[in-house]
Amino acid sequence: MGNEPTQELFRLLPKVDELLRRPAFAALAKDLPRPVLLHAAQVSIEELREEVAVGRWNPERLERAANGEEIERRVKAAVQVFESSGVARAVNATGVVLHTGLGRAPMARAAVEAAAEAAGYALLEIDRASGERGQRDLGLERLLKLLLGCEAATAVNNNAAATMIAVNAFAKGKEVIVSRGELVEIGGSYRMPEVMKAGGAKLVEVGTTNRTRIGDYRAAIGKKAGLLLKVHTSNFRVEGFTEEASLAELAALGRETGIPFVHDLGSGLVLDTPLPGLESEPRVIGSLREGPDLVTFSGDKLLGGPQAGILVGKAEAVKRVRKNPLFRAFRLGKQSLAALEATLRIYLRGPVAAIAEIPTLSMLAMGKEELQRRAESLLRGIQSLGHAEISAEIVEEFSEVGSGSAPGVKLPTYAVALRHEKLKAAAFAKRLRMANPPVFSRIHDNRVLLDPRTLIAGDESRIIAALADQVQPGP
Ligand SMILES: *Cc1c(COP(=O)(O)O)cnc(C)c1O
Repeated sequence: MGNEPTQELFRLLPKVDELLRRPAFAALAKDLPRPVLLHAAQVSIEELREEVAVGRWNPERLERAANGEEIERRVKAAVQVFESSGVARAVNATGVVLHTGLGRAPMARAAVEAAAEAAGYALLEIDRASGERGQRDLGLERLLKLLLGCEAATAVNNNAAATMIAVNAFAKGKEVIVSRGELVEIGGSYRMPEVMKAGGAKLVEVGTTNRTRIGDYRAAIGKKAGLLLKVHTSNFRVEGFTEEASLAELAALGRETGIPFVHDLGSGLVLDTPLPGLESEPRVIGSLREGPDLVTFSGDKLLGGPQAGILVGKAEAVKRVRKNPLFRAFRLGKQSLAALEATLRIYLRGPVAAIAEIPTLSMLAMGKEELQRRAESLLRGIQSLGHAEISAEIVEEFSEVGSGSAPGVKLPTYAVALRHEKLKAAAFAKRLRMANPPVFSRIHDNRVLLDPRTLIAGDESRIIAALADQVQPGP
């Protein structure tokens, strides 16, 4: 196709203003901010322009599309895409409890309320008795000391930040000694070697991928040693012929040589009642007992709170973290801090309250009877839609902990398995994701699985609504 006919075709495309003046957009224009509508019109015209450029349109068809419903439909779809972008509620029917893509730990009601309360003015960095400037993490520290029996505690924005600030506070311009078997990549670009570099320290690897002994650490300690670091390899498992130095050995080596020892525990299990499948997951309190200077863990993994990186341990070590310039850069926002405190207050009331009120723990602890009851209730709801093209049944399946915590642990569950007569499972699952609110499922054996374990109050009717919408053909 030559250039000139293309130029002719381009002239058939409407101008943005002209397009938006059409009666088809009158209602939308009343509800939507003008920039959103402009953006949608520009995107749609540009889309057509690109199709013209690759020869997809002839003059008659293009003229009809540009003047009629085709382009209007595209603008409305572009508005829809824009309006459904950004952070919004979603239904997690995947059965992955700590689903990174869906926001990891769902917060307890008390934590949500505390965050909302703190959103206005709040007692944050002020001492109410004197009216003087205070410190934002003192309330949090009191709670963590009561709960874990540590000397001191603080928190930053996430556990990646907690590890980095520990590295920077103890080993800037020095060496961090880590086992080769623990050089984990957590996700994104969070790889231990990069964390060391960004933290201003040099990584010294000791041992081999599967075996590291305490003697390997000792041999690596030279004049420039700044930190002994042990990383809980939470997202993979080395099996077979393995050996690692124990926390107690490392803590003793640290005391003997005067080099601080930090344990990056990652998943941060605090609950002292065994959870099914997580019997061998290390606890924060167990790690503290072995005597490291600091233990770091996430707020939104097995703790079940907001995103945070918690540092607990010796008073001297926490003091150094607080004095580090990164502490100001990495500090927790008031809403996260309030939510974290509220979560810890639930733990203080004991394991029964924690399992009942912290969604992550309720989901992990949920028994098969409860799961079956929920699956049956969901199944009845779906069947009552009387959808001719969707068949549903209950199957025995497995949920996962997620977020790299407890890899390979399979939690038995009952899921509702759906089949759509006219759609492959992937297309059906996509339709559910495009619903409002979006429903995320799991695909297995060309079926869409809905796992009741990870549903929260109200999700069942949200799923039913998303499926009811499928009666009309989707976009
Ligand atoms: C998850 C994890 C991190 C990262 O924690 P975030 O809270 O996601 O920043 C660091 N170290 C370990 C061992 C982890 O498991």
